[in-house]
Amino acid sequence: MFSELSLHPSLLKALSILKIERPTEVQAASLPAIMAGDDLMISAETGSGKTAAFLLPILNRCITQPKASLNPRALVLVPTRELANQVYKNCESLGRYTRVTPGLVIGGESFRQQASMLRKNPEVLVATPGRLIEHIHKGSLKLTEIETLVLDEADRMLDMGFAEEVMEIVKFCPEQRQTLLLSATLNHRGIKTMSEQVLSEPKIISV
Ligand code: AMP
Repeated sequence: MFSELSLHPSLLKALSILKIERPTEVQAASLPAIMAGDDLMISAETGSGKTAAFLLPILNRCITQPKASLNPRALVLVPTRELANQVYKNCESLGRYTRVTPGLVIGGESFRQQASMLRKNPEVLVATPGRLIEHIHKGSLKLTEIETLVLDEADRMLDMGFAEEVMEIVKFCPEQRQTLLLSATLNHRGIKTMSEQVLSEPKIISV
């Protein structure tokens, strides 16, 4: 049960409202390690509950270790706008009883509106790589306070040619951070190389 995972009551309340009662396999396997701050490589498909697996610990940390930070504390990088929207909505939904503010940065939408949203200091940012880099280059975003970096659907990001962008973004994050890499398969050619460059002593979760 989620109540055994020492999640904040506001998250347990949201889970209960959403009728999410029992952790899925990937959640049971990864939540304690993510909450402990470990780096992880997780093989998980869409539909496995992978999004909540990383969002719940991120939200929990923001609630239980509040900071007057001016920059995002968590960054979730995803390959597509559609997935970014889904993860953002999940974050809003799971965080509905908290004060944690999510932000969304994707291509094809107004850059100026996003820059103005970023000035309101979202704590958890969900983004696609290209537009995120644009915000960094133009000075509307700093990643200097990132505590948790999530590379969601990393295999798709590589297949879509985002390897260079992802590595550039990683360089803007602090070296001292937690990194979670999720991929449908961990046997993908580029995943091993990327994981060696971005993860530190990762635990491997394969369900
Ligand atoms: P995902 O694999 O993250 O795309 O999640 C797939 C769907 O499962 C989403 O609609 C979630 O809201 C839902 N979900 C996540 N965790 C659970 C759970 N423990 N029990 C039931 N549904 C869940």
